[in-house]
Amino acid sequence: MKTVITHSAEETFAVAEQLGRTLKPGAFVLLRGDLGAGKTVFVRGLAAGLGADPEAVTSPTFVLIQHYKGPIPLVHADLYRLESSAAVNDLGLEELGNGGVVAVEWAERMSRPPDDSITVKIEDAGGDTRRITIEKGVGRVFSEI
Ligand code: ADP
Ligand code: MG
Repeated sequence: MKTVITHSAEETFAVAEQLGRTLKPGAFVLLRGDLGAGKTVFVRGLAAGLGADPEAVTSPTFVLIQHYKGPIPLVHADLYRLESSAAVNDLGLEELGNGGVVAVEWAERMSRPPDDSITVKIEDAGGDTRRITIEKGVGRVFSEI
C-alpha cells in the first residue's frame, strides 16, 4: 500500500501517469472518493501513462463507459448514476478488460470487482490537498460494504 499527498490536479495527474506506465493489459483500477475528489483527473493521468490522449478523458453526464485508443487501450467507466448492483453487473465490466486497462469511478457499486484489481482511494484533505491511497487488491477498501 502506498499513500501520497498531492497539492494540485497536476500532481495527482503525475501520480496516476506513473502508475499508468506500470499497468499491463487486463489491469483493473478501482477509484473511490467523493464527487470532486479527483477521480477523473486520476483517469486522465492513467491515460497519459498508457500512451492515450488524456484530453479525451471526460466525465459525460450520461455515458457510462468510454473507450480510448492507445498502445494499451483504456476503458473508463463511471458508475455514479447506477444505483443497483444488478445494473452494474449487467454492464459486464469484468469482460471489458480484454487487451486493455479498465478504470472504474464509483467502483464501490461493483459487487464483484476482480480480486487482483488496484484500488485507488482519493480523499479531500482540505483546499487542493488530496490523500491518495493506492493498494493492490480489493479486500480492505471494500470490506465495509
Ligand atoms: P471526480 O471525478 O472525483 O468527481 P474530478 O477529477 O472531476 O473529480 O475533479 C476534481 C477537481 O478538483 C478538479 O476541478 C481539480 O482541478 C480539482 N483539484 C484540486 N486539487 C486537486 C488535487 N490535488 N488532485 C486532483 N484534483 C484536484
Ligand atoms: Mg469523475
